Amino acid sequence: AAKAAGRSTFQLYQPSMSEEILVRRSLEADLRRAVNREEFEVYYQPQTDAKTGAFTGAEALVRWNHPERGLLSPVIFIPLAEELGFIGSIGSWVLKKACMDAATWPAHLTVAVNLSPIQLLDRRLVRIVKNALAEANLPAHRLELEITETSLIGNDVQALAVLNELRELGVSISLDDFGTGYSSLSYLHRFPINRIKIDRSFISRVPNDPDSVSIIRAIAQLGTSLGMKITAEGIETDEQRVFSAGGGCDHLQGYLISRPIPYKQVACLFAEAVLQKPAA
Ligand code: C2E
Ligand code: MG
Ligand code: MG
Ligand code: MG
Repeated sequence: AAKAAGRSTFQLYQPSMSEEILVRRSLEADLRRAVNREEFEVYYQPQTDAKTGAFTGAEALVRWNHPERGLLSPVIFIPLAEELGFIGSIGSWVLKKACMDAATWPAHLTVAVNLSPIQLLDRRLVRIVKNALAEANLPAHRLELEITETSLIGNDVQALAVLNELRELGVSISLDDFGTGYSSLSYLHRFPINRIKIDRSFISRVPNDPDSVSIIRAIAQLGTSLGMKITAEGIETDEQRVFSAGGGCDHLQGYLISRPIPYKQVACLFAEAVLQKPAA
């Protein structure tokens, strides 16, 4: 019945509120508090070189350590934070934390931080990034910022200006979840993009689905010929790893290598890997 009544906001205030709306409402109130109390935590998912298997860095993935509900996924609270206007403060906090943490890793390793489209259009972004690097004493080339195609649609002039300024700082730009959005080829040559991350939905279908096989090969070939690096996201099986490495992907990320893990664990993993590496 609620569906038939359409999207009237009046519906929200009827006593027949759905469970989902109730949960959302209570999360909204909690999120305000969480921002002030810094209930967030940054996990890191290691990435490897597709050829050698050596670690190349990690992606920072935020979690909300909710006092009653436990560890909450960003899929649930990032869209809410964007709607409520908290994404700027959460995003800046993640950026700072990720830079501080990465500064303790071996110097050849990078850290990737996801940017919401709202952050990309915030005039303060370049200064926020600059400050995060300076405070952590992290060289700019060790930071990658992940954006999605959605960030670029309709904001191309402003987005291009910001991305150019970020590149001038020495930071790299990655196009995340590639293949799921509009994937206009014009983005690849109009914007200063260093890396394409091929979305998990393609990786999960190889090697059995011939279309996904062709798509991955084509994206990797196109990106490489434009001077970009290619990451395969969501590697879960050894078959997917072997295919991606052979299909032109430079770097790998996925549960097969590691799930996202807390700072302490990733720091140990990276430190051990350096010790185990045979002297050159
Ligand atoms: P993403 O940037 O595409 O990150 C990759 C997501 O895929 C992560 O989910 C990761 O845990 C998951 N993943 C990695 N490998 C595998 C795999 O082998 N199999 C499967 N099934 N999943 C895998 P997570 O951590 O839940 O994050 C979801 C999304 O939330 C991220 O997608 C990103 O868009 C967003 N997000 C996370 N942290 C932040 C942040 O600090 N700021 C912003 N704006 N967005 C964030
Ligand atoms: Mg990402
Ligand atoms: Mg992704
Ligand atoms: Mg994703």
